[in-house]
Amino acid sequence: LTAEPRAEPVVFRSRLPDIAIPDHLPLHDYVFERLAGRRDRACLIDGATGEALTFGDVDRLSRRVAAGMRAALGVRPGGTVMLLLPNSVEFALAFLACSRLGAAATTANPLHTPPEIAKQAAASGATVVVTEPAFVAKVRGLAGVAVVATGGGAEGCVSFADLAADDDDEPTAAIDVGNDVVALPYSSGTTGLPKGVMLSHRGLVTSVAQLVDGDNPNLHLREDDVVLCVLPMFHVYSLHSILLCGLRAGAALVIMKRFDCARMFELVERHGVTIAPLVPPIVVEMAKSDAIDRHDLSSVRMVISGAAPMGKELQDILRAKLPRAVLGQGYGMTEAGPVLSMCMAFAKEPLPVKSGACGTVVRNAELKIIDPETGLSLPRNQPGEICIRGKQIMKGYLNNPEATAKTIDAEGWLHTGDIGYVDDDDEIFIVDRLKELIKYKGFQVAPAELEAMLIAHPGIADAAVVPMMDDSCGEIPVAFVVACGGSDITEDEVKQYVAKQVVFYKRLHKIFFVETIPKAPSGKILRKDLRAKLAAC
Ligand code: ATP
Ligand code: MG
Repeated sequence: LTAEPRAEPVVFRSRLPDIAIPDHLPLHDYVFERLAGRRDRACLIDGATGEALTFGDVDRLSRRVAAGMRAALGVRPGGTVMLLLPNSVEFALAFLACSRLGAAATTANPLHTPPEIAKQAAASGATVVVTEPAFVAKVRGLAGVAVVATGGGAEGCVSFADLAADDDDEPTAAIDVGNDVVALPYSSGTTGLPKGVMLSHRGLVTSVAQLVDGDNPNLHLREDDVVLCVLPMFHVYSLHSILLCGLRAGAALVIMKRFDCARMFELVERHGVTIAPLVPPIVVEMAKSDAIDRHDLSSVRMVISGAAPMGKELQDILRAKLPRAVLGQGYGMTEAGPVLSMCMAFAKEPLPVKSGACGTVVRNAELKIIDPETGLSLPRNQPGEICIRGKQIMKGYLNNPEATAKTIDAEGWLHTGDIGYVDDDDEIFIVDRLKELIKYKGFQVAPAELEAMLIAHPGIADAAVVPMMDDSCGEIPVAFVVACGGSDITEDEVKQYVAKQVVFYKRLHKIFFVETIPKAPSGKILRKDLRAKLAAC
């Protein structure tokens, strides 16, 4: 990538002043910096059993697991441990233990297939996999990899409970916070092959601080908050914005192993959840659910959506159902460390925001919008590629300097591949991904805009828009639609509904009614699966 040819780019910054962010603390010392005053407060609550660990417990147990990993498994500074776990207390303990050892945790979805897991284990150089007994069979064959099993343990595996019993009190590793990688998530593979994203201690500390530190934090989490942890911790959104931000702020987490709408409402009521970080598919299900009216969800004061687009229409529907909660979005990307922008209505001194916006750039960072063709930065209200710069962004892709150089330019700007603009109030609106724009006779159509419109229809439960090849137009927008139970909406009605609201080139040419829309656990529509479906028909 070549840097922008002009000297002075148009740069957007947070409305909040910069703050002092520790640049010497390893991640675990940073999140536990205020441990003294909160040792006895609840920290991790297991949603299934109601059992709670205090901050003191989590600190102590994560030290023990670190000592155990060093003694029994030889994990050393610079080593890599794979966490192949659903949401659990063990996930949090193992992650913090890696941080203490100066090792990197590479996180993976336990529902991945054995070949996918093997590929990531080999590419990341993992020598240890921590997993549940149910998934041990998926990693048995990995050469040179020791397996740790949680729960009751499993044959041939080191037991997690034994690791946690190690009370050896060796001092923790010397860590080079600017260089040592603490988290090695793989980008979710929505558009290409997943790549290992190197996040350093300093990078993650900066990103957490940008949200929850300062006199007026951008994301105001308090010690008396109860945060719902239903998003998978193996994805960086949950790892960062729920686990790490929660630990730093001293809030309690209610851990749900898997999403279930009714169960989620129950847990919110039982534990008085105040903060609900979610993704659009969950928001859609909540907004369309009747059960929401049968539960008292009035404890919720903040609903955060991120990871995928949430249109204005959906945001308005949910706001009507949860009138007491502030509803807003954050915008993240694994490589960006991960958070680029956060809703200013979540600040301690909140600012008004607009539906459909995905926040304002985080503090201590710079953001610009560039013309993807010329590379020149653009003024307000003009859509272009979003770029960000700051200490929070990734070090680079693991063992892939070419891909790194294509993403981070010589001046340190990370190019996101997302198209968006900054409005007059510094709010960012994402139009869509550069790669996902549909080109109809040269006109650009953003699937996200049409999807938001479709989901707002009372007869439509879910929808995805993709391009279909067409001889005369190049690409035409078509939709996969899930009708609501009891709805008898027809193809023509859907087409008309959209046609009435959009310019001619955005009209839908075909509607395919389906049972579900394929989605990644991070909430993103798997468009490549839908495109493959189209190619096959
Ligand atoms: P890959 O890079 O491997 O294709 P991925 O980009 O899906 O996978 P992630 O890092 O999980 O992996 O996702 C980041 C992307 O998610 C962003 O680049 C952006 O397109 C999208 N995204 C995140 N938050 C929002 C949001 N609030 N609104 C719209 N899109 C969002
Ligand atoms: Mg990406």
